[in-house]
Amino acid sequence: RAKESGRDAFRFYKPHMNEKAQGLLWLETELRLAIEQEQLELHYQPQYDLNTGQLVGMEALVRWNHPEKGMIPPGEFIPQAEETSLIIPLGEWVLNTACRQIAAWHAMGISPIRMAVNISAVQFYRIDLAQMVAKLLDHYGLPATLLELEITESVLMDDVEAAAETMNKLTAMGIQLSIDDFGTGYSSLSYLKRFPISTLKIDRSFINDVTINEQDAAIALSIISLAGHMGIEVLAEGVETVEQLSFLQRHACQYGQGYLFNRPLPAKDIERQLKTAHLPECLQ
Ligand code: C2E
Ligand code: MG
Ligand code: MG
Ligand code: MG
Repeated sequence: RAKESGRDAFRFYKPHMNEKAQGLLWLETELRLAIEQEQLELHYQPQYDLNTGQLVGMEALVRWNHPEKGMIPPGEFIPQAEETSLIIPLGEWVLNTACRQIAAWHAMGISPIRMAVNISAVQFYRIDLAQMVAKLLDHYGLPATLLELEITESVLMDDVEAAAETMNKLTAMGIQLSIDDFGTGYSSLSYLKRFPISTLKIDRSFINDVTINEQDAAIALSIISLAGHMGIEVLAEGVETVEQLSFLQRHACQYGQGYLFNRPLPAKDIERQLKTAHLPECLQ
């Protein structure tokens, strides 16, 4: 019986593995082309000061505009790009495009806005990120203070020494560092003491039910308080309702980002908003 099920397991396992491997190979080939042929694009999601309603920054979020499959969200190719190391050219494309966009907006007379870019662990550890970023800022003539890099807790815990070195280099240049999806990783709080972090981004999963679930509220409030006591800024991700917004305002969460204000938008749509200095109605 055991033998039989073992054989069955083997029989079912193998085609699955082949499929997965083939899927990955397809994706690798296609993604390589996508980078070369500029099929990738960045969308931008504004971030606001919840007290004043002022726009304080945006997050660049990559999309893959596939010729046959249409717009593919990052969740469907970033993990594979990380597995195949394609995240290195992809990540460089993202940083380059984000910097070029800041410069382009500046040239249009739009007042400078800080741009946050997501950085994966592979980029953080396998290339000289500080050097690459320095080259880009120099190329586009941008002050480093306009760039923020988002990393996750797990990135920091992989290799604490190396992470500290890279983060110190980036901070010395004037770049802001934020912790994305804060509260969901497997890290110890002591790293907040060791690393030069400017912002904690409260994970969307805690904001979702923050007004109806006491545990989520307790976690969100603890993060707001922790950030306050450490002198770190705090931003709530995934704000979707006015109830969530007023909860966050009531509890002095300084910044927010979410569908309530804007979905991530292509550069052209963002431009229109920037030119008219349009504020979301709920923040007026
Ligand atoms: P993230 O960095 O935590 O980005 C926030 C995600 O939440 C984005 O999904 C955004 O569209 C979505 N979001 C924003 N506001 C709301 C809201 O109010 N409600 C809901 N339900 N969702 C909201 P997106 O664009 O699909 O990106 C998913 C993840 O992919 C990102 O999570 C980030 O981890 C990764 N990613 C995106 N762009 C890049 C990139 O250029 N490089 C790397 N390494 N990762 C990226
Ligand atoms: Mg992010
Ligand atoms: Mg996040
Ligand atoms: Mg996330």
